[in-house]
Amino acid sequence: MEVRVRFAPSPTGFLHVGGLRTALYNYLFAQHHKGKLILRIEDTDRTRFVENATENLIQNLRWAGIEFDESLEKGGEYGPYVQSARFDMYKQHAEQLIKNGMAYYAFDSQEELEAMRQSQTDGSFKYIRNQMKNSFTLSDAELQALLDSDTPKVVRLKVPENEVLVFNDIIRGEIKVPGKDIDDQILLKSDGYPTYHLANVVDDHYMKISHIIRGEEWLPSTPKHVILYRAFGWDVPEFAHLPLLLNESRQKLSKRHGDVAVEDFQAKGYLRDAFVNFIALLGWNPTGDREIYTMDELIEFFKLEKVNKAGAVFDLQKLNWMNAEYIKKASLDELYKQLQVLPDNIVLEDHSEEYIKSVIELFRERITFVADIFDIAAYMFHKPAQYDEQYKQKQWNEDSPEMARELLGLIKRTDTFDHENLQPAIKEYCTKKGIKMGVAMHSLRLMLTGVPSGASMMHTMELLGKSECIERIETFLELENKV
Ligand code: GLU
Repeated sequence: MEVRVRFAPSPTGFLHVGGLRTALYNYLFAQHHKGKLILRIEDTDRTRFVENATENLIQNLRWAGIEFDESLEKGGEYGPYVQSARFDMYKQHAEQLIKNGMAYYAFDSQEELEAMRQSQTDGSFKYIRNQMKNSFTLSDAELQALLDSDTPKVVRLKVPENEVLVFNDIIRGEIKVPGKDIDDQILLKSDGYPTYHLANVVDDHYMKISHIIRGEEWLPSTPKHVILYRAFGWDVPEFAHLPLLLNESRQKLSKRHGDVAVEDFQAKGYLRDAFVNFIALLGWNPTGDREIYTMDELIEFFKLEKVNKAGAVFDLQKLNWMNAEYIKKASLDELYKQLQVLPDNIVLEDHSEEYIKSVIELFRERITFVADIFDIAAYMFHKPAQYDEQYKQKQWNEDSPEMARELLGLIKRTDTFDHENLQPAIKEYCTKKGIKMGVAMHSLRLMLTGVPSGASMMHTMELLGKSECIERIETFLELENKV
């Protein structure tokens, strides 16, 4: 049997990180089994329509490297799969269920439904079929009169209340739900639009979906779907419900508690591969012995059976660590491109691409985000505005000015100004003078950068360039003279 899976987001306006995890697991599963992944936009709830939401979703999914086999853009034979374009089909299917007795009409007003809910002291809020106004309680003549007069009505699923619904979940095992606990779900609303449940099942059937991989929040809907598949006489697909995403306080990850939109993480400067690697490990670890995996490895190792049941904590610290790991290995071109999402106050034009790339190279071991270079290596972009007072007290004594002047002379005399030449020249000077190399290096660091730590001093000097180093040392010594 061909593996066919789908990602079926509702266009809410942004791609939630949980949505990305679902899309990614579907993608990994499809790729692993050489199957197909379909994108279906579930926009049955027209009251929640958000302009450009679909375009935004596709953009984000594409950014993450998730490819669809039958998608909106490919159109033609395969699509577009947008539920709002398929409303007639859902309606026909609801009517088919009415005909075979698996669904029924109900004519209750909002007030009547509200009164019914109030009467249920156990808080179950279930539709009480034999007390309400529907095909079961109305006489044939009454029913026909209501239908003829176009009285607002819905179509409800007739849940077999005496049966126990049993289905298998690849991650959770066998699940049993007594029919008496399942609500007679509305399938078709009074405006003729389908609910999620009807449209979802009809589409999954006709799109020949073999495995339904979705978030745990849809688990309570699954028994209703199983009833629907049976009512239509269709095969029930396999199910796998992915664990919830939790924040660090182990609550459900939500917009109220910080960023949940994929685009927010993009804007913060996370690298695509790092972010996707992190998302892939929310609820699963391929081999258990490491954290860094390429997309090809994720595909190779993916197994639904190995996905955890327990909620997965979205650990920002781990994400930051992962980003730093990817920065260590990424190409300079990619890292430079990442600077396109810089905060407004940082101007790139003052420096050449080559220079910025060299700074990134020099500092890549020490940063979490590429843009961190403008913070921890601010002195690579402008002269030190001040000198760390504590550092100065520690490194600068009465012998320092003479050494600084001699080092300045040495710098002026060094023609090929790179770390290979600077290193032996400074070392030779130190040996001759009986000065520890570290002492000379710290004085240079103080004068050139103003801060106590950074990358290798020789490389820093090479990058700053000879004239800039001379200027900075002279400025420092002038200021010292004034004190
Ligand atoms: N439209 C649902 C959502 O927004 C899809 C759930 C499912 O995959 O069945 O997540």
